[in-house]
Amino acid sequence: MSVMSGVLYVVATPIGNLADISDRAIAILGKVDLIAAEDTRHSRRLLQHYHISGPCVAYHDHNEAQTVDRLIATLGEGRSIALISDAGTPSISDPGYRLTRAAHEAGISVVPVAGPCALVAALSASGLATDRFCFEGFLDARASARRRRLEALVEEPRTMVFYASPHRILEALADLRAAFGDDRRACIARELSKRFETIRTAPLGELHAWMLADADQQRGEFVLCVEGRAEA
Ligand code: SAM
Repeated sequence: MSVMSGVLYVVATPIGNLADISDRAIAILGKVDLIAAEDTRHSRRLLQHYHISGPCVAYHDHNEAQTVDRLIATLGEGRSIALISDAGTPSISDPGYRLTRAAHEAGISVVPVAGPCALVAALSASGLATDRFCFEGFLDARASARRRRLEALVEEPRTMVFYASPHRILEALADLRAAFGDDRRACIARELSKRFETIRTAPLGELHAWMLADADQQRGEFVLCVEGRAEA
């Protein structure tokens, strides 16, 4: 498998289980001139696991503005770059879109190397409708902003997918329950592809009570999917 010069590869990496990475992703990470990683120390574990030792630079929310120009110049010189984030697909609630936008503006090819993405994994196993859905990203940390956003979604007919922080998972569930009602079906997808993976789909009232009763279920990483409003 060859790597093309002057191309930006957007490479998905595992969201838990290190085996969840494609042969193509491993080949490309091993051959590009440079890997731009959200956290180079975090990604080192994955790269070492696959015996990949190429040069890495940090590309994250706090240095994006300065780093984009440098990476675009490197690509312009004909070198290839793979963009990775700490987990899953770069740009999806992760750094990346400023770089891909700048690459398009500079006429540089951007090639996705598809793979794990927590929202797709959760939705695919949720048992909720998947023909149309909307991704709402992270639920807001501030209660008032979170509730306002949920209120704006009350009429949404598509399945809604949210990322939720473990620090606020109980508040998030309580707010979902208040906004959509006890009977609306939803799915909690916790620790996907990891040892304590739990996927549970039930009415929101039941899910909230179940999580309140078991502190172990409140730990880890979460995706929440909520059924859309039934259309008449
Ligand atoms: N780029 C990633 C992707 O493709 O899914 C998302 C990165 S975002 C910073 C991290 C959030 O994704 C977590 O807070 C959680 O909501 C969700 N997430 C990531 N890995 C997960 C996992 N293994 N199980 C459940 N949710 C996960």
